[in-house]
Amino acid sequence: MLLLYKPDISMHNTKYVFVTGGVTSSLGKGIIAASLAKLLQERGYSVTIQKLDPYINIDPGTLNPYEHGECYVTDDGAETDLDLGHYERFLNIPTSQANNVTTGRIYQSVIDKERKGEFLGKTVQVIPHITDEIKHRIQLLGKTGDYDIVITEIGGTVGDIESLPYVESVRQLLWEKGEENAIVIHLTLVPYLAAAGELKTKPTQHSVKMLMQSGVSPNILVCRTEHEISEDIKRKLALFCNVKKEDVIQSIDAETIYDVPNLMFEEGLDKVVLDKLKLSSEKQPELIVWNDFIKKHKNPKSEVEIGLIGKYVELRDSYKSITEAFIHAGSTNETKVKVRWIHSESLTTENIKTKLDSLNGILVAPGFGDRGIEGKIKAVQYARENNIPFFGICLGMQMAVIEFSRNVLNLKDVFSTEMNENCENPVINLMKSQKEVTKKGGTMRLGAWDCKISKESKAFNAYKSELISERHRHRFEFNNDYLKALEGSGMKATGVNPKTGLVEIVELSNHPWFVGVQYHPEYKSTVLNPHPLFVDFIKAALKQSNN
Ligand code: GLN
Repeated sequence: MLLLYKPDISMHNTKYVFVTGGVTSSLGKGIIAASLAKLLQERGYSVTIQKLDPYINIDPGTLNPYEHGECYVTDDGAETDLDLGHYERFLNIPTSQANNVTTGRIYQSVIDKERKGEFLGKTVQVIPHITDEIKHRIQLLGKTGDYDIVITEIGGTVGDIESLPYVESVRQLLWEKGEENAIVIHLTLVPYLAAAGELKTKPTQHSVKMLMQSGVSPNILVCRTEHEISEDIKRKLALFCNVKKEDVIQSIDAETIYDVPNLMFEEGLDKVVLDKLKLSSEKQPELIVWNDFIKKHKNPKSEVEIGLIGKYVELRDSYKSITEAFIHAGSTNETKVKVRWIHSESLTTENIKTKLDSLNGILVAPGFGDRGIEGKIKAVQYARENNIPFFGICLGMQMAVIEFSRNVLNLKDVFSTEMNENCENPVINLMKSQKEVTKKGGTMRLGAWDCKISKESKAFNAYKSELISERHRHRFEFNNDYLKALEGSGMKATGVNPKTGLVEIVELSNHPWFVGVQYHPEYKSTVLNPHPLFVDFIKAALKQSNN
């Protein structure tokens, strides 16, 4: 009998690296995970990163940015944690819904199964049902057969009540997979006490003890620190935390997050991970394009100042992907991009000139609701009238259409129906399919959509392509009833969805650089692929600064 070879994906032995956090939050687990992944990728392994978030929201889509920073959107339309942005920016590969799971999503699946009767009369409990679901979600990416290594970042800090089921799931997986297939990196803080002039190891000892009480012994400690950790301190940490001295890795404060892969390489993090997983470390990471990017980023030949007009500017993480995209585009242009943070609520007719004075470019940011909206419209007007390069993203694009309709077309009572449902001229309104939507979570126009670009446009100059795909996250749309009038007066729709006819890009023909996009280009900017529109916007700002 002829046996046809059929690859069995379960044969693909994916290895798992768990990253837990101790002592405090905000130590940068996402950056450590992304840096390790980058090094492993450069060594030839296929790697992905997943984040488990211990909150009850199904996803961060309904969270106010002040709560949790930016909501990052993937190609498949998942609304996710901003760490996924770092993963994509570092690894240059797309993530998906499977890369971000919350407690809410875990419970929702378990409860759905319970309602379907899938537990056959059993009492449904945290152990084993919730932990089984967590384990299932962790292994989903591994089971695709696409990855040699899956790095799973456990959100929160060890010891938090809500993290317990995750730590227990990690304990079980470590036992099931064996030490050559699954390891734990514990990211911890070694604080410096100025009064004592010393680095202190006790908080790390305590957090490792806490982890051990849950049955998990970390294999590697990554120690965040402001000062060099001496060999003595490393020995002490190793002794009291039950790891080898070479498994204590220092992670000193870096000038930029993009330095962290190099710093982790110098400390040997990728090497100890590969040794523990019994994988070859023969091929060295080269980071050629990466290091060229850093070199240009750190040695700019010029500088531009961009005004970022938003209403969440108090928490800069709300605009994380935008500021990172500026860094990528700045490096390509060998230009330092200085950001002037401007609260849209603070802009008035009287102060606008002073507040926006001498800017080389203006970016009006995405957002929701009417707070600060008139300030955004004023900023658009200022950019348009003073020939300052303008970049409007999502709500920023919508405000550009409103501003033009009010001040150039001279239409009365112009708005988006998001802000005024009954305005006379709703130049931005809801699509029919959105009108019936009552639930807020996960119901916007989300994820990747195609856009066809006209050749005679700034967008085409930047993308050098007529068909692009970009990620969306919005409910309201350009109202095509006004297209003819707007185009007749100089605001052109240069990018349109080929299937739906929805306007995705608007531009002004008689302006040095005025581009509004309904989508979010910032999500797709990476170190290896800086976003063409950001690169072109910074180029235009540079030109403006030389005038
Ligand atoms: N609030 C607008 C909408 O829902 C814009 C959203 C955004 O900027 N992401 O259409």
